[in-house]
This record gives sequence, C-alpha cells and structure tokens, in this order.
Amino acid sequence: MAGAVILEKSGKVVIRNVGLMLSGDIEAPILDADTVVVDDGLIVAIGREKDCDTDGAQRVIDCRGTALCPGLIDSHVHPVFGDWTPRQNQLGWIESCMHGGVTTMISAGEVHLPGRPKDIVGVKALAITAQRAFDGMRAAGVGGGVKVLAGAPVIEKGMTEQDFADMAQAGVTLLGEIGLGSVKAGDEAATMVAWARKHGIQSTIHTGGPSIPGSGLIDEHVVLEADADVIGHVNGGHTSLSYRSVCTLCEKSSRALEIVHNGNERIAILTARHAIELKCPHRIILGTDAPAGSGVQPLGMLRMIALLASMAEIPAEIVFGFATGNIARMRNLRQGLIEVGRPADFVFLDKAQHSAGKDLLDSVRLGDIPGVGMVMIDGLVRCQRSRNTPPATEVPVFVS
Ligand SMILES: [Zn+2]
Repeated sequence: MAGAVILEKSGKVVIRNVGLMLSGDIEAPILDADTVVVDDGLIVAIGREKDCDTDGAQRVIDCRGTALCPGLIDSHVHPVFGDWTPRQNQLGWIESCMHGGVTTMISAGEVHLPGRPKDIVGVKALAITAQRAFDGMRAAGVGGGVKVLAGAPVIEKGMTEQDFADMAQAGVTLLGEIGLGSVKAGDEAATMVAWARKHGIQSTIHTGGPSIPGSGLIDEHVVLEADADVIGHVNGGHTSLSYRSVCTLCEKSSRALEIVHNGNERIAILTARHAIELKCPHRIILGTDAPAGSGVQPLGMLRMIALLASMAEIPAEIVFGFATGNIARMRNLRQGLIEVGRPADFVFLDKAQHSAGKDLLDSVRLGDIPGVGMVMIDGLVRCQRSRNTPPATEVPVFVS
C-alpha cells in the first residue's frame, strides 16, 4: 500500500535573535541580520527584527544568539532506495545525516543496488524509478525530510542521444559518476556528456583510482576530455591522482571541483588551497561520497568544513559556502542560500560545549565540529538538538 503523502505546510515562521547569519554566498558570507521570516516554506524577509513583519506567526523560534546557516548540501552520495544502504547494510542513514545538518543530498549514482541493471533499457528504467521514489519519499517525510535528488544513471556503451532525451523528458536531471559503467574513454564520455547537457542533464565524472573492486582508474586526461560539469571527488574516492595531476585539473578546466570526505584528506586540503590561489573558490563544492567502503558519516559534511577551515586555513564562513551556496550555483538549486524567495532549509549551529574556540567560527577554525541545535526543511522543524553532533553550547527554543 502506498504511504500517505504529507502535504504539510509551515505557515508563517519567525526565526529571531540570530547571533550570526551565514548567507551561503562566499562573496558576502555574513549577513547583517538577526531575523528571518518564512511563509509556507519560503524565505520572505531577512533583516533586523524591528524592520520585519513578525505578526501572526504560527511558530516563533528564539535562536538565543546562535548561528543560522543554509542547510548543508551533500554534493555526492550513493543512495539506493528508501533510507537504507546495502553497502554497509544500514538503515536510517539519511535521517542520521540530517542530524548532521544535511538538508539536501545529490546522488552520484544508485550504484550499490544489488543486481543493478547494465542494459540500456534497465539503466533508464532504474534512473526514472529512483528519481520518482526519492521524490515521493521526501513528500512523505521519510529520511528526515531530506531532499534526496536521485535518479542518476551510470552511462553504458551503446547509449544514443535519444536515450538522454527520453530520460530528460521523464524527469531525470543528473548522471551518475561517469567511469563506473562501461564508458571509460574520454572521447566516448565527451559525446554523452554533450548529449546530456543539451537535454538539461548535469554530469559528474569519477576521478582517481578505483573505489572498490570492479571500478577503474579515471585520470586527468580522461576528466579533461570528458568535460563533465562536476569533477567528482577530485581528491579521489579514496585513491587520488597525484597532486600534480589534480593541479592540472584545477588549471585547465573551469568545472566544479568536488572535494569529498571519503577521499584523500591531504589532497583535499591542497586542492582547496590551490583553488584559492587560482582565485576560483566558487568552484569548490563539498560532499561525502557516502555510503562507501568507509561507511556512512552523519557528520561528514561538518567534518569537511572543519578540516578545510582549520588545515587549509580558509575562513570558516567561506568554507560553509562551499557546502551550501557554491553547490546551489554550480547545480542550479533553489536551496543553499539565505535569500528572499529561497526555500527555508536551515541548520542552526553553535560552538560545541567546551570547544576551545571563543565562538562558532573560531571553534571551526580550530578544527572542532559545531553542535547542531535544530534543522529546518521547507520551514518545518525536522530535529531539535542533534543526537549526533557534540552538544551545542546554546540551542534555539520555541517561543510559540
Ligand atoms: Zn567515484
């Protein structure tokens, strides 16, 4: 029997007494505002409380001086169906990541499905089914209400432009990691990437050594020739290309540089530094590449933010933008920025209890992960104090 679709709307929500408002935009990462007003899931006002129309709210949240950030977007996940992963035979991993501040996940292919079809009709059917299933799952509030953008086919030899047109027509907007299927040559990949792009489907390519037995090496020459929209896990997943090869990708391509948790941490730090030196920080986007052999990391996105802020010495407020606004722009998403008209997807943060940092940003700069005090998706509160992060020093409270 199909589950009931929940069409719950947030109504008017006022979030006030915000101590630090992170915009998600690396050009202007901190907003001069202490209040956000939401109406039916969308941001309708941002500013000082006295300047905002706060009357008649169904829900008022007092942030008690804590920080508000766009909900984190994990640019690289491998979901299968429901809130289950066969990779580590784990239930509830998506909801667990929501407790780590993640409100959107982007599939890089439903590659862990046991018996995954490799024939073209099967590939297309799976992509369309996964897209529909995850869309329906979100509407039903399963997986903590996280927006899982899935239905990302792994392209195989023999696909034609008509196959991409058919999938686009059916609602497919992403390709799974190129290189995990039979298409591994640069010229063949380039043809299919161009067809995908023409039909409005965004592409990601695997970069580096094989992830698990059965996958293969994709080197910098193949990545450059294929010219996919996202250079997937540029720091390897796990095995990275040499730093010299990664520098070539940074310098010779203008595509997104995706840095993942389940990759080589040294190259993660060096790539982020190099992108800053090349003056292209807008290209850096973050993901986990979970579930994987390394498991699922509910705090993976927060760990990446702390890693890059502390070890690559990039201001923490900018690094939050790598996990939010940069991904919104690179992937044409409405969520990921605190701006009027955008979805009200937020993570409420404070420094973890007993962090040596003097405030949230200072604690992240020192390498500590923050505490999550609340998560909101489309204006609906999905959790209060996280069960997974270290406890936040202060947490938001409901006034009404
Ligand atoms: Zn990969």
